[in-house]
Amino acid sequence: MADPKHLNPIYTDEAAARAHFEALRWPDGRVCPHCGVIGNSTELKGATTRPGLYKCKVKECRKPFTAIMGTVYEGSHIPLHIWLYATHLMCASKKGISAAQLHRMLGFGSYKSAWFMAHRIREAMRTENLSPMGSDGGDVMADETFFGKDPDAGSSRMAIRNMNKIVTLLDRTSGQTRSIVVKENLSAETVAAILNANISPKARLLTDEATHYKTPGRAFADHKTVNHRADEYVSRLDPTITTNQIEGFFGIFKRGMRGVYQHCGSQHLHRYLSEFDFRYTNRSAVGVEDAERTARAIKGAVGRRLRYKKPDGQATAQA
Ligand SMILES: [Zn+2]
Repeated sequence: MADPKHLNPIYTDEAAARAHFEALRWPDGRVCPHCGVIGNSTELKGATTRPGLYKCKVKECRKPFTAIMGTVYEGSHIPLHIWLYATHLMCASKKGISAAQLHRMLGFGSYKSAWFMAHRIREAMRTENLSPMGSDGGDVMADETFFGKDPDAGSSRMAIRNMNKIVTLLDRTSGQTRSIVVKENLSAETVAAILNANISPKARLLTDEATHYKTPGRAFADHKTVNHRADEYVSRLDPTITTNQIEGFFGIFKRGMRGVYQHCGSQHLHRYLSEFDFRYTNRSAVGVEDAERTARAIKGAVGRRLRYKKPDGQATAQA
């Protein structure tokens, strides 16, 4: 990828980064995060005042605020342009980027701060659009994969039981994927709960012939299957019946996780899935290019916070 530092000052200049972020966060004028009033604030200026500090002019409020209040960037000493550059790097790399590589490319902070940043950016990538997939009556594919080792699964003799189970849903109309880490066994009951929570009854469900989809599939307008065991990935009778796109998604996810995120603990798996879901849902093939994908991840930073707790309950040091 071309180094975007040379292309856009928002990745090198703090004032440009702030103006960019404020425009994304406040398209209709500055909003006071304390009282919610729009367009009634003033910038505080002074020799010792940091730029980008505003004061609400509402009589009952009059509180100071900045654009990063109430975002995943809040509470860190990392300049905003570094946050935006890290977001760009994660959005523009097809398979993800390790904390070590992020640290090198940013030329800022420590490995640990890069690791914290990456997890916060993943939080910003987490989709909040949980409206039912396939509500237009379109196709929704569902498939599962096994990945890594689930330390909570005990010492079963069945190797597959020690692996993390991931169910991914893909809405063919929007191209959106939604991946869920499954802690229980993959039973019809577990699968039904996931499908019913995420897919409209109007949808046509597409899966393989696994038995755990049979009964849950009756909740939908239609349920078609391909026979993976017979090496059938696209129905010979009807080529629209396939789960190939999810296979493709799993391929990207596993190559990324093996190549870049070798030491992913189970407890973080859902965060990595947020990242891969985000990049896949906002991919070039559906018309979302690097700059727009980055802008969406930056907008996602608003209204989210992420704090890591140590086992003793103390919040970990801020990055
Ligand atoms: Zn206010």
